[in-house]
Amino acid sequence: MNEKKKIAILGSTGSIGTQALDVIRANPDEFVVEVLTANGNADLLIKQALEFNPNTVVIADESKYSFVKDALLPHDIKVFAGSKAVTEVVQTESIDMVLAAIVGYAGLESTIAAINAGKQIALANKETLVVAGDLVTALAKVKGVNLYPVDSEHSAIFQCLAGEFHNPVEKIYLTASGGPFRGKDKNFLNGVKKEQALKHPNWEMGAKITIDSASMMNKGLEVIEAKWLFGLKPEQIDVIVHPQSIIHSIVQFTDGCMKAQMGLPDMKLPIQYALGYPNRLKSDFPRFNFLNYPALTFEQADTKTFRNLALAFEAMNKGGNAPCILNAANEIAVAAFLKDEIGFLEMSDLVEKCLQTIHFINKPSYADYVETDKETRRVAANLI
Ligand code: NDP
Repeated sequence: MNEKKKIAILGSTGSIGTQALDVIRANPDEFVVEVLTANGNADLLIKQALEFNPNTVVIADESKYSFVKDALLPHDIKVFAGSKAVTEVVQTESIDMVLAAIVGYAGLESTIAAINAGKQIALANKETLVVAGDLVTALAKVKGVNLYPVDSEHSAIFQCLAGEFHNPVEKIYLTASGGPFRGKDKNFLNGVKKEQALKHPNWEMGAKITIDSASMMNKGLEVIEAKWLFGLKPEQIDVIVHPQSIIHSIVQFTDGCMKAQMGLPDMKLPIQYALGYPNRLKSDFPRFNFLNYPALTFEQADTKTFRNLALAFEAMNKGGNAPCILNAANEIAVAAFLKDEIGFLEMSDLVEKCLQTIHFINKPSYADYVETDKETRRVAANLI
């Protein structure tokens, strides 16, 4: 029998983290949990620790340390607190693979630490590549670390490329559901509230990515993520709206042939593919039935109404620290929208303003990215 793969889950209490634990629970002969981390959801972290018995748990919110420590005291589980502990614990020798599933810029440092320690990465945290894709992919190359995509679109591209790595890609199409506001105009969007934006038609996800999906920023972040993951030029990446979310993305080769990966929209599939790579593990996930989907449809993305997608393409084309600015401004914008401090369309205004005003750096260092993120957050918060 193969040795079980030892997994660290960063962000185990989130949407991706909990679904990854579903996958691990269903495959006890394949995986064992070494590390679990959360930000503030101590109750769920404790519950997960009691079920999966990891070596170590980390609660980033230090005020919850004693609570978690006391609850796990009778068990042989190490407990640490603070963000620094998250970046330290990923380096534990016994870990084979780190699932990077913290949301936002907060996931960058721990993912870099895991790559530095030579751990294989299952990458859900797309912001890592948006912010510092050049440095992260270069580091992964030096360290011999593979970045296995968890995002369903990128998993689709990765699966379409299996056996084709020597064949040049002409183009990729990332599919987008269009979110809850597909087809709506600016008048409508002006008045939408967070409760409407948080209702995604096809996917159940964390709050930040759900808002990003409604505003099309998620697709913009994915475009930049794809550039780095697959070493593509900006003009090789296109977005096509596909409301049914059955085709998860498409690769077009230089002979004109297109390969698409399809299946029901369920994040457990790409999570399992990344954790289990190169094997496809048997699953009892619901199977796709063609007769339930007699029409798969496709539309042009409306980048005039959903300006975030256009802004993301602009930032990618500009390069340097522009995607880092885009990401930080967007994180502030989404948080403000979720607190009813700004309207839905004002999120794009804020991102655009930051892209125009923050100092551009053509070849940023890691320190430059950290500074850009900090400065953008400061400027964006002042603009609200
Ligand atoms: P959630 O908000 O559901 O979960 C985020 C996780 O990160 C939680 O465990 C949270 O802990 C933890 N966390 C949040 N902030 C911090 C912090 N500052 N320090 C340490 N831990 C923190 O997000 P999702 O699971 O939806 O998304 C995670 C990532 O995966 C994102 O980058 C997203 O873009 C990407 N992704 C998600 C998909 C999905 O279907 N959900 C699909 C494709 C990609 P706590 O619960 O304690 O707050």
